[in-house]
Amino acid sequence: MKVLILGNGQLGQMLGKAAIQQGHECILYSDRDHQVKALGSQQALGLTLDEAKEWADVVTWEHEHLADDLIDATADKWLLKASLFRQLTDRRTQKALCDTLEIPTSEWQPFNDAAELESILADCDRAVVIKSAKGGYDGKGQWRWKPGQAKDDIIAEAGQRPGIVEDMIDFSDEVSVVAARDHHGEQRGYPLTLNVHRKGILAYSIAGAQSFSEALERQAQAYHQKLTDELDYIGVLAIEFFVVGEGDDQQLLVNEIAPRVHNSGHWTMSGSNCDQFNLHMRAITGLPTPDLLVAPTLMLNAIGIDGFPEVLWEAGAADCHWYGKDARPGRKVGHVNLMVDSAERAHKLADQWCDELQVLKDT
Ligand code: ADP
Ligand code: MG
Repeated sequence: MKVLILGNGQLGQMLGKAAIQQGHECILYSDRDHQVKALGSQQALGLTLDEAKEWADVVTWEHEHLADDLIDATADKWLLKASLFRQLTDRRTQKALCDTLEIPTSEWQPFNDAAELESILADCDRAVVIKSAKGGYDGKGQWRWKPGQAKDDIIAEAGQRPGIVEDMIDFSDEVSVVAARDHHGEQRGYPLTLNVHRKGILAYSIAGAQSFSEALERQAQAYHQKLTDELDYIGVLAIEFFVVGEGDDQQLLVNEIAPRVHNSGHWTMSGSNCDQFNLHMRAITGLPTPDLLVAPTLMLNAIGIDGFPEVLWEAGAADCHWYGKDARPGRKVGHVNLMVDSAERAHKLADQWCDELQVLKDT
């Protein structure tokens, strides 16, 4: 098949690699410089977006911040209705969808402007996170506030665009489920991944080694199935959760939904027989999907550094992925997957490597 990928950042490139493995043809549309490109190259092919769309059998995307005109120009070759994509990619309608489907999330309220935000905060008696409805990623477009703290500057900034105010959650862990739904409505998912964030950005993930309860694993897969069935979604979709409660009362609260492959699924590139990019491509091109086997893996993000230390390129147990991007504090520039034999070992390696691999933004 012929696949057009919208966006040509690292996720687009990794999707493209999977497309080639499966014998598909693939080109990418850079929505940064509005050019169609070949996989692995910044050289423009000289095709218009419309020509690229006509060439393709199916159009998919690497990120959800797609401009309206790009959606309108390509949606006839999508496997998801554009209206549902829009619903999923605005935090207000995404949260409302969870409420309708009775999938628990943190308590939340929408606002349209600074006046509405001000009146929500005036009545608020607990710590909250304020999030822009659209465009946020890696902790951007978010403000934290608690009663007693000055709020004028936050209202002035956050109130410039619509958003939501949600309760700050006192979670024990952050986890995610990455799973695909195929053309027949069948679901294939990886086990829950443990995600550790620093300054709002994913620092590392551990999977295949961490054992969460059967009940939590089932809850995650059930929410994923319910949501993707409702949307008639085909391909990989990730859900980020907070784990709250203790013992038998432990449960998942949805933090956010990403209708695409996800950073917390990068460990599958070395920790599974079929990584998330392969899984997505198989699902959208109608190829069968396999049983997913997993091996304990630590995924460490490289953030804001100029390159991996040589010792990591040389280490037999390390699978290095460098994105070829300029370094800026807080910008993801690569990741490394490390094969581990236990969760303890993974945490130890993460503690050992995080500071060296990550330059974060001052907040
Ligand atoms: P992004 O699109 O930037 O990933 P998220 O909503 O996932 O946005 O927020 C980034 C991180 O900030 C989360 O992974 C979590 O660590 C923290 N966070 C976000 N919302 C909350 C909340 N309601 N309570 C506690 N922590 C939160
Ligand atoms: Mg997130």
